[in-house]
Amino acid sequence: MKPKILILLPPAWKGLGKETFAGPDYDVLMHGTDDYQPDDVTYFVGFRPPHGFLKSLPNLKLVISLGAGVDGFLGDPQFPKHVPLVRFRDTSLALEMAQYVLLQVLMIHRQQRYFDKAQAEHAWRQLLPPRPTDMTRIGILGLGDIGGTIAMQLAGLGFAVSGWSRSRKNLPGITSFAGSSERRAFLGQCDMLVCVLPLTPETRNLLNAEFFAGLPRGAWVINVARGAMLVEDDLIAALDSGHLTGAVLDVFQTEPLPPDSPIWRHPKITATPHIAGITDPRVAQQHIQMCVREMQAGRLPPDIVAVDRGY
Ligand code: NAP
Repeated sequence: MKPKILILLPPAWKGLGKETFAGPDYDVLMHGTDDYQPDDVTYFVGFRPPHGFLKSLPNLKLVISLGAGVDGFLGDPQFPKHVPLVRFRDTSLALEMAQYVLLQVLMIHRQQRYFDKAQAEHAWRQLLPPRPTDMTRIGILGLGDIGGTIAMQLAGLGFAVSGWSRSRKNLPGITSFAGSSERRAFLGQCDMLVCVLPLTPETRNLLNAEFFAGLPRGAWVINVARGAMLVEDDLIAALDSGHLTGAVLDVFQTEPLPPDSPIWRHPKITATPHIAGITDPRVAQQHIQMCVREMQAGRLPPDIVAVDRGY
C-alpha cells in the first residue's frame, strides 16, 4: 500500500485539487475534503497548520513545509519535534523575492513615485537622484538562500551591498558582517535595509525603536521576511519623526492586515499582501515527490530544519 500524504492548502492556493500534487509513490489526501483517519497519514504538507494539529497525527514520518520559512510550524508549542521538518528551497522563489526587492529599491532610488505624481499633474519636473548608485548602501539582514540572491542581484546593478548573518559569508563584492557584535556597524552604513531573516526567538521584534535608531537618518526599511520581526508602532514613530524616510512592507504582525491598520494609509509606507515570493505549486509537487522518494529509499531529504536553531 502506498503511503498517504495529507495536504493542507495555504489560502493563496485555494481551489487547487489533489491532482496538482499527485505522484507515483504516494496517495494524496486533501485536508477539509477527503475523509481519513489520523493514523493513515505518513507525510504532511502545508504552510501554517493550526497549533496542535500535527501532534494529532501519530504515524507522521516527515513534515514538508511549502514555504522557505518554517515559523508556521515551529511556532506551534505542540510541534512534534521528533518528526523531521523539511523546508522549501527553490531557486525560482529566491529570484522572485529578488525581483520584488529590486523593484522596490529601484522605485526608491529612481524616485518613481515623485514622477508618478508629477505625471498626474501634467507637470514636467526634473529631479536629481539623491545619490549615485555606487554610493547607495544597501544592507541585507540575512544572507541565506534568498538574502544571498538579493545581494548579488543588487550588486549587479552597481549598488554598494553588505549583509548581516550569523556566520561570515564570502560572496563576491558583498561586505559581510557577522553576529550581534557587528550588528551596530552594519546598521550604521545602510541607506536601505532589506530584512530577509527567518523568524526565530532571536529575530522576533528585532526591528524595533533601538534598531531603527541605529540606521542613518533618512534610511529606508524593506521587510520581506516575517511581520513578527518588525514592531509596527516603532516603525511608524521612526517615520513620523523623520528619522526614516520610508518603508516597504510585504509582511505584517497580523495577516491579512486589518482594514483599520494605520499602515494602509501611512503616506511613507508601501504595503503589499505577502506576495514577494509565492511558492509555485508545480515546483512544490516536484519537491514533494523528491522528499517521498528519498524517504522511501531510507534517506532524509536535503534541507532538514535545525529545530533548535529555528531555521
Ligand atoms: P535561509 O537560507 O535559512 O537564510 C537565513 C539567513 O538568516 C542566514 O544567512 C542566517 O545566517 C541568517 N540568520 C538567521 N538567524 C540570524 C540571527 N539571529 N542573526 C543574524 N543572522 C541570522 O533562509 P531563506 O531561504 O533565505 O529565507 C529567509 C526568510 O525569508 C524565510 O525564513 C521566510 O520567513 C522569508 N520569506 C518570505 C517570503 C515572502 O513572500 N515575503 C517568501 C519566502 C521566504 P547563517 O547563514 O549564518 O546561518
